[in-house]
Amino acid sequence: MTTPLHPPTTIPAPVRVQAPGKINIHLGVGAANDGYHELATVFQALNLGETLTLIPGGTRSIIVQGRYADAAVPRDESNFARRAVDLLITALEGERDVDVLRDLDIVIDKQVPVAGGMGGGSADAAAALVGAAHLIGGVDDAIVHECAVAVGADVAFLLRGGTAIGHGRGEKLSPVLTRGTFHWVMATSASPLPTPDVYARFDDLNPDPAPAVVPDQVLKALAAGEPDTLAEFAANDLTEAAVSFMPEIAEVMEAGRDAGAVLPLLSGSGPTIGFLARDAHHALDLAVLLQATRGVNEALRTTGPAPGAHIVDGG
Ligand code: ATP
Repeated sequence: MTTPLHPPTTIPAPVRVQAPGKINIHLGVGAANDGYHELATVFQALNLGETLTLIPGGTRSIIVQGRYADAAVPRDESNFARRAVDLLITALEGERDVDVLRDLDIVIDKQVPVAGGMGGGSADAAAALVGAAHLIGGVDDAIVHECAVAVGADVAFLLRGGTAIGHGRGEKLSPVLTRGTFHWVMATSASPLPTPDVYARFDDLNPDPAPAVVPDQVLKALAAGEPDTLAEFAANDLTEAAVSFMPEIAEVMEAGRDAGAVLPLLSGSGPTIGFLARDAHHALDLAVLLQATRGVNEALRTTGPAPGAHIVDGG
């Protein structure tokens, strides 16, 4: 028997990864430096997220399916999932065998609204990084973190999940203690609100913003499980800017408040609004009411905190 000169290469099995969407329970925005605003935010990962399948031995295609398989999601190299994998290849080539990552097909099951302020694209990048690292037998956390931040500040948090403070651009993270399950109703809008436009309007409205902070009371309320205190101190500094583009955001927030929502909050730069309910029953009541409110496209119930990006089927 002779040994073949080139043993047959086996193509690894596809890997399936889930990553959460997020809400900013508090979003403090400061001055812009080098084009990026100084943020002090509290992220919470939500059990409403994306599922990606990375298929080795493909043709670098990107297939987007699911509830928000929107035309606005790029299918080319600019897709955040592809960018994340390509950054990982660049970071590792020369030291590791990364060939399996070069021709991946990526299937995105999109369950997070596009350009809704819930970090859907960032979740795709986080999932892609975790899946790609798995396919090559694991990658140092620091390298994964670097690639995450190069795609976008929120990606670092979505790798981790839970509830965390984000400083800097939102990528310097420290975990936050919370008590119990948070029941959220996320009211989406039929129209997107591009993040850069909202920040530009924030600058117009706040030529000399105060330093971005997370109030101590917000952290204490989260640790103690006191939703009413949370409602008193948590805020999103982008609200006024987002409302200036879409006045219906203020009307929808008011409708939720009238229905007893503890805390109506713009999610990120909007236009999705998160409403904190008192419990699961209240969330159902709120969702029914909000679904019938003008300006609401869909009222989605979810809970937090959720885990960060993780493998669900590793082949
Ligand atoms: P964030 O809350 O992180 O600011 P967002 O949730 O408002 O973001 P995304 O859905 O992440 O917004 O998408 C913003 C833009 O990014 C889209 O309009 C699209 O052009 C681009 N994009 C690139 N890759 C993706 C992806 N995988 N999914 C969605 N959008 C993507």
